[in-house]
Amino acid sequence: MTNKINIIGYPRVGKNREYKWIVEKYWRGDSTLKDVFEVSDNLITNNWETQSKNGADTVLAGDFSFYDQVLDTVTHLGIPQKRFGYTNHENLETYFKASRGGKVNEKDEPPLDMTKWFDTNYHYLVPEIDWSLDFQPTIYRFKYELDLAKSKNFNCRPKIIGPATLLTLAKEKGIDDNKLQKIVNAYLELFRMLEEIGFKEVLLDEGCVGVGNHMVNDDAFSSLKLLIQKSNLKIHLLGYFGKYEGFLDEILDSNIESIHLDLCYEGFSQDEIVNISLKKHVVIGLINGRTIWKSNLDEKISNLIGLGIDNFSISSSCSMLHTPYSLENEDGLDINLKNILSFAEEKLDELRILNSSLTNNNDLKEIMEYESKRLTADKALVGRVVSSVRSRVSELSDEDFIRSEDREVRLEKQSKALNIPLLPTTTIGSFPQTLKTRNLRKQFKSGEISIDEYNDGLKQIISETIEFQENLGIDVLVHGEAERNDMVEYFGELLEGFAFSKFGWVQSYGSRCVKPPIIFGDVHRPKSMTVDWSVFAQSLTKKNMKGMLTGPVTILQWSFYRDDISKKDVAYQIGLALRDEVIDLEKNNIKIIQIDEPAIREGLPLNSKYKDEYLDWAVNSFKLASSGVETTTQIHSHMCYSEFDEILDAINALDVDVLSIEASRSGMELVNPNLKEKYRGAIGPGVYDIHSPLVLQGVDAENRVGELINSLDLNKIWINPDCGLKTRGWPEVKESLTNMVDATNKAKEKL
Ligand code: GLN
Ligand code: ZN
Repeated sequence: MTNKINIIGYPRVGKNREYKWIVEKYWRGDSTLKDVFEVSDNLITNNWETQSKNGADTVLAGDFSFYDQVLDTVTHLGIPQKRFGYTNHENLETYFKASRGGKVNEKDEPPLDMTKWFDTNYHYLVPEIDWSLDFQPTIYRFKYELDLAKSKNFNCRPKIIGPATLLTLAKEKGIDDNKLQKIVNAYLELFRMLEEIGFKEVLLDEGCVGVGNHMVNDDAFSSLKLLIQKSNLKIHLLGYFGKYEGFLDEILDSNIESIHLDLCYEGFSQDEIVNISLKKHVVIGLINGRTIWKSNLDEKISNLIGLGIDNFSISSSCSMLHTPYSLENEDGLDINLKNILSFAEEKLDELRILNSSLTNNNDLKEIMEYESKRLTADKALVGRVVSSVRSRVSELSDEDFIRSEDREVRLEKQSKALNIPLLPTTTIGSFPQTLKTRNLRKQFKSGEISIDEYNDGLKQIISETIEFQENLGIDVLVHGEAERNDMVEYFGELLEGFAFSKFGWVQSYGSRCVKPPIIFGDVHRPKSMTVDWSVFAQSLTKKNMKGMLTGPVTILQWSFYRDDISKKDVAYQIGLALRDEVIDLEKNNIKIIQIDEPAIREGLPLNSKYKDEYLDWAVNSFKLASSGVETTTQIHSHMCYSEFDEILDAINALDVDVLSIEASRSGMELVNPNLKEKYRGAIGPGVYDIHSPLVLQGVDAENRVGELINSLDLNKIWINPDCGLKTRGWPEVKESLTNMVDATNKAKEKL
């Protein structure tokens, strides 16, 4: 039996984030393009070497990216961008301008819009296809990587995003025949050139088609069909995060060479795989490309053998872009935890083991050793199962999810008890984290200053932040979150059940990487997490101080979560830990408590048939956290980063008293009759777009406040920015908030 390993995508920032360091240095003007290429050549070659060491006989050209794979695709295809024209891989000048913004014809252009890659935490650049100009495909970069591969003796094949996925991700609607021909011709021309330099096949990334017809429209799908019909290269179709819903039959009848199946998202049954294999060679994506846990190889191999077919390969379920590089240098992790984790390199090893069993007459020896090591570690890992946490979750009853009185009654009582004025002003939580804050943290982490000195420094910053807000005349204050580096990491470090890797970086976009906490065990709260800070802050002012927490869904979404229990159970565990914190805050006289859920929208499953199930537990985990308080304690939440129209019912169901929500960034689109109809609590649609360094102008503030008054219940309007102010500078924040407060006062006078 021949080798069965198929590589479909790998992390590309480097084990030590080499890509980040070199490209940022280049952007600063401190290194040359030659340096960038030297580093990227090494990164690519290292990836290939690791893959081939683990038994892959073919590697990928076009899997590396200088910023983003969608921008790479339009670059290969020579598809011009409306504001940036043609991009190229040779000098990367316009390529980086399109990625990061820059001067075009003397005009400052913001970068291409960026948005989430499916439901992962990777973000891609949204192309702005200029259909009026010629498409000019080029194989410059493929040729470059082919030459590199040849020089190192690697077999390679090209990988490129396919037309249906490209059109879908570019948010192209209404693709007429001309456009269809034009884009397919660009692919065909590129394919012709690829053939000319010796390629015979191509890995066509059609992730969106994999998700199915609720993501891809018929026009976009026709572009793929047409390309398959006319292509001279053999096409290996790569779909993931779904089951090609609505498209599978047509695809299987088309002239493709192989089809990739994602067994880890919705999954395929054994029968389904066998049936598909009657028509095509199947690439079985059975090692999860987006989690960090070892697979049960015993089960995987028996499933493979049980299929009783031979025309298959094995691979990761999707590109491993979403996992960190390697566990090799993680010397700080509990050894038992380490033994159940699997980053990209370890996933390659899993593929190697499966492959070697398959090619050695299903010899199970290595698999058995692997499994026994994994299971032993899993059992020995302290904190994996905490019985008190388990029973608390299993004993929950309906009352734990609801507050004792209705929102209308609560809001009225709260206004009186907490002395909330008409059109109350507030902010979202964080205030600018300038060099001073960051240096303080650095000094503490490196041991230069003691914990007491660190805390004193933070207290100083908090006092200044409170004075700042009092001077501006803001009604409900925040302490500013100076003690938090990151809104999830902060809580992860204080909760049990979390671990932190040293090098577990994954690419978020461009050179930006995140290192998500790892939820490996049952989550619980050994002691209060924010009470001391909030009490200290409240002691400095007579005004109401908001307690500030990150919600269960956001903590879950922005971490790597365990896969041995359901997401719902993990969310409930976090919800309960937060519930205790909320009650502790209340006991300590913090009577307004905000629980941020910016990630609630992005957790929505790609396929809408799973939407209700998700929203149900997401909403409930939040309510679990928030429902333990008295009527006169006011619960706030905050949301941002997305469009909320689609989930307004769920947002209403959270039953928060006050919601602050991003609005001005999208031109106050959210503020429409639909909002008033569906959301019944008090609400502060943001009037200050904090994503830009631009100051909120007085007129804009007045217009936006006016718009809120015109469209919403006057008694339920709060005035606040779109999001936290962490990334902004003090001077612009001062001006903007002054204008926000002034506009509010003017509006009140008029009333
Ligand atoms: N309270 C957080 C802050 O102000 C909220 C951040 C967010 O929504 N992303 O920074
Ligand atoms: Zn926000």
